[in-house]
Amino acid sequence: MQTRNLIAGQWTDTGSGGEIEVVDPASDDVVARVPMCGASEALIALNCAFEFQPKWEATPFTQRAGVLRAAAAMLIARKDSLARLITQECGKPLPEAAGEVQYSADYFSSAANEIHALDDMHIALDKPGVRGVVRHRAVGVCAAITPWNFPLAMLARKVAPARAAGCAQLAKPAEETPLCALALAEILLECGLPPQCLHVLTGDAKAIATTWLMDGRVRKLSFTGSTETGRLLLRQCSQEIVRCSMELGGDAAFIVLADANIELAVQSALQAKFRNAGQTCICPNRFLVHKDIASEFAARMAIAAAQLKIAPGLEEGSNIGPLIHDEAVKKVRAHVADALKRGGKLVCGGRTKDMRDRPDRFFEPTVITNCNPNMLCFQDEIFGPVVAIMSVTSADQALEIANASPFGLAGYVFGGNHATALAVAQQLRCGVIGVNEAAPSNARAPFGGVKWSGYGREGGIWGLMEYVTTQYLALRELNT
Ligand code: ADP
Repeated sequence: MQTRNLIAGQWTDTGSGGEIEVVDPASDDVVARVPMCGASEALIALNCAFEFQPKWEATPFTQRAGVLRAAAAMLIARKDSLARLITQECGKPLPEAAGEVQYSADYFSSAANEIHALDDMHIALDKPGVRGVVRHRAVGVCAAITPWNFPLAMLARKVAPARAAGCAQLAKPAEETPLCALALAEILLECGLPPQCLHVLTGDAKAIATTWLMDGRVRKLSFTGSTETGRLLLRQCSQEIVRCSMELGGDAAFIVLADANIELAVQSALQAKFRNAGQTCICPNRFLVHKDIASEFAARMAIAAAQLKIAPGLEEGSNIGPLIHDEAVKKVRAHVADALKRGGKLVCGGRTKDMRDRPDRFFEPTVITNCNPNMLCFQDEIFGPVVAIMSVTSADQALEIANASPFGLAGYVFGGNHATALAVAQQLRCGVIGVNEAAPSNARAPFGGVKWSGYGREGGIWGLMEYVTTQYLALRELNT
């Protein structure tokens, strides 16, 4: 297990602020200790990245793509050990963690496949002797700040396109889950990435980010995390006009139309809602179900939820692991209490399960009906395994409620008539939509939101283009 930081081409195990304990949320066992770096290490990394930037930018596409393809293959080859690492530091069930490794590898394959989108483009100008050339230049040194819920994939989707685009990169993973980021850096080095090209620092988020973003040499930030932190970082980025991609909080609506196939909707809701114990930014947050089928939907959800096995992620058959930390449990409890206080009806769950000597972090799959937009669980990301259902009288009412949220990351529409479901989906104001589909994310497709969910896209050609600037040259041919 790699526990050292990668700074200025060196693996280093000391941090100016001491060290951080990485804790398994299912047991509170200390999995590892990593350096607590601060401003001084952040500056060393930045100096090196800035110096190395032109070299990586000048590296031919084939060589860059070669590193990406090798990394994809190595991620797959190490799927089992990486999946265990994900589960150990973030708690999700092992099969989900294995899925995350595959998803991460897909970002590397995708970036390698899309690299020729960066080829020069030529414009025929209506001007004799002059032709236009459009070039895609690396944006420069970029920074990546990532959250704990997908400790490998959220970094992979930033590291892969930045490598393809020719950027040197500075990365800071979440303090809860730094180990996957360090493992990814190790893989990239083994795959031939020059070590000065990627720097991974664990430590004091504020000190590290401030050092990078206020310096002027960092030209791009890609951030995934809370809207609150995103706002703070945007303010910092305004100083040096740092380009940003922001993937922030979500409040996804899951709309079930009157003619929906209820079984498909239930199975999809189960998959989308309970993945990572409800701790993903595209988890459905507000279930808006047509009144004719709302009670049946809720009843079937409760039956299906009762079959889920609540257990540590490493245990065979686990479907729901622990929440990441006690604060997360507190938040989910507060959402449930608020919903019940405001008239919600508890169908199942609503509390943590007694797991004997394990931490009190295993929240039971919960179904609450009779919800409404005044409840906390409709206004704020629950980030836990709670299905909050409101019955609606029409698709229009569902859309009105769905779009009233200041967030706009993901949405879901389930309906028996494709054209109708599609028409509803197209009126949703969000970036990613599943139509009769529970898992809309794909490394080849654009991922990102609108409004308070941020801007910029990750994945496919769209993710790659976030790391380049477009440069236009008007070239007059000289008759020499
Ligand atoms: P969450 O609530 O999901 O933990 P955060 O936005 O707090 O989301 O964290 C996402 C990432 O942002 C983590 O890597 C975290 O360390 C980092 N982060 C948190 N606060 C700051 C800050 N003030 N400046 C820079 N990064 C921060």
